[in-house]
This record gives sequence, structure tokens and C-alpha cells, in this order.
Amino acid sequence: MTDTSNGDAGVGGMPPACDAILALGTNIGNRIENIDEAIRRLSAGDEVEIVARSRLYRTAPWGDVDQDWFVNGCVAVRTKLSPHALLKHCQAVENAMGRVRTRHWGPRVIDVDILTIGDRQIREPDLVVPHPLIAERGFVLIPLRDVAPDLTLGGKSIDMMLSALDVRDVVPMAP
Ligand code: AMP
Repeated sequence: MTDTSNGDAGVGGMPPACDAILALGTNIGNRIENIDEAIRRLSAGDEVEIVARSRLYRTAPWGDVDQDWFVNGCVAVRTKLSPHALLKHCQAVENAMGRVRTRHWGPRVIDVDILTIGDRQIREPDLVVPHPLIAERGFVLIPLRDVAPDLTLGGKSIDMMLSALDVRDVVPMAP
């Protein structure tokens, strides 16, 4: 197990009241309702408290592009759950909402990923934090900037990471 904190490649600028940041995505059915429902379920017990919510964005599919458009967003949370318990909690919400893993990066009712947990660095077979694809995905970085504008990853600000990407397909939705 590798779990280190605050090395040179670490995370900085997390919002003060926040323990973790989760990314949400959906491209089946009523996408805005799916995101709202996932947030309700994530915070239904006393394990996870939502402290900030990004705007929602209409985004083009990524990876497997032969599928419908997505809605993506982020939430900053406070939690006393361990990293693996938080992963299980997120997966329980995905499963309860009927997510069926058909194909990698394929259509989904809801996808909940852990982006960051404080400044922790975790490299395990089932959990990598910070999420390894953050810097490549405009649909993650743009909502992430809403909840954690000062966040840095490996010394790079969100705007630095975004400057390398074409993000024309990440469009804010009406509030
Ligand atoms: P996905 O289909 O993209 O939701 O990926 C789910 C798989 O990624 C699960 O098997 C998780 O154990 C694994 N995983 C690794 N790191 C993370 C993370 N930071 N957040 C969510 N899932 C993760």
C-alpha cells in the first residue's frame, strides 16, 4: 500500500472545509435529475456532508465517443470515512441507481469518481488518488475549478492544466 501526503507531486489549495472532491457524470435518462439524486444519496446518511457544488456542464463523450452527451459536475464533501470506505460509498450510490457496467467508458446512469482526498496520494489496485485522469479531462477540470479554484496538482494550477486542452465541448448549463 502506498499512501503518502504532501510530497512535491501532491495536491494543494483544497477548500478549507473540504475533505474530498467527487466527480459526477451521467449520460442516460434525465441527467440533471440523476446528478441531483446521486448527491442526495451520497449525503443521505451522516457519513458524507456536501460543502460545495459546482455548476453542471453539458459535455461531449470522452474515450468511447459513440454514445450520447453527458452532464458532469463536482461536489466537495466533508467525511470521516476512510478512502476505501468513501470509494465503497460512491460505488453503492452507483449500484443503487442501477449502474450496469456494460463497456469501459460506456453509457452510465451515474458515475462517481474520487478526485482528491485532502492532500493524500494513494496508489492501490482499486483506488488511485488523486484520480489519474484529472489533468486530461476538461469535463472534470472545469467543474473542479468551480469548487476548488486554487487547487494544484503536482504543482500545476487548474488553469495550467486546462490550457493544454480543447474544452469547447464543455458547456455550462443554465442554473
Ligand atoms: P469507472 O468505471 O471509471 O467508474 O472506474 C471504476 C473503477 O476504478 C473501480 O474498480 C475503482 O476501484 C477504480 N478506481 C480507482 N481509482 C478510483 C478513484 N479515484 N475513484 C473511483 N474509482 C476508482
